[in-house]
Amino acid sequence: MRRQLVIGNWKMNTSIDEAINLIVDLKEGLNDESTVVCVPYTHIGVVQEIVDDRIAVGAQNLCQFDNGAYTGEISSTMLQSLGVEFVIVGHSERRAYFGETDSMVNTKVQQALKKDIIPVICCGEQLETRKEGSFLPFIENQIREALKNLSKAMVANCVIAYEPVWAIGTGETASAEQAQEVHRFIRGIIENLYDKSTADHMTIVYGGSVKAENAADLFKEEDVDGALVGGASLKANDFLSIIKAL
Ligand code: PEP
Repeated sequence: MRRQLVIGNWKMNTSIDEAINLIVDLKEGLNDESTVVCVPYTHIGVVQEIVDDRIAVGAQNLCQFDNGAYTGEISSTMLQSLGVEFVIVGHSERRAYFGETDSMVNTKVQQALKKDIIPVICCGEQLETRKEGSFLPFIENQIREALKNLSKAMVANCVIAYEPVWAIGTGETASAEQAQEVHRFIRGIIENLYDKSTADHMTIVYGGSVKAENAADLFKEEDVDGALVGGASLKANDFLSIIKAL
């Protein structure tokens, strides 16, 4: 189902007390809008206890394996048992610092779907790839690999996040036109792989230094269905402005 979503990615930030304060402030500032917060694993239980139905709780990663001797990892079964609704998969930081490959991303997407957790599948090019002009084929390859062996019904339960790596945490944002070009292109890939209805219903959010000042412009674009927000999701007022711009 194509829906409008603003998703916060807290990354490895906040103490438990800071997390509680952030949620309290978010609840105070929200009217009838809703949002998703992808918090550190350690905070999921505490945050779930204090959110209301306007705030869904997600995780930032999951393991590609079912269970067993994988010290330090968290499985989709564990996330499901907590009632986690969303999970970020294939974030560029995981690809860059933890060796996550396209094939691992594909397995993780399948693990999430098996447990009825919505994977927020990240794709996006590095600056060199953008400058070379080969970013569209690069993104096409990431999407095709991430969705490998997924049926139409499975892909209907995915969200895609276009996050140009050069815009993440850098303060530099893709222009609304640059975001729209890639989002339109991604929708076209989904149409080729599945069909027009699946493509039209796919939620595709943009990520990369989204702030109160640029959110409204990005959200005006036809194929931009919301945002995945890192830094600005850690400040309640900033995050609320983005949510309200949608
Ligand atoms: C992200 O990490 O997904 C992200 C978009 O970060 P930021 O908003 O800080 O660029």
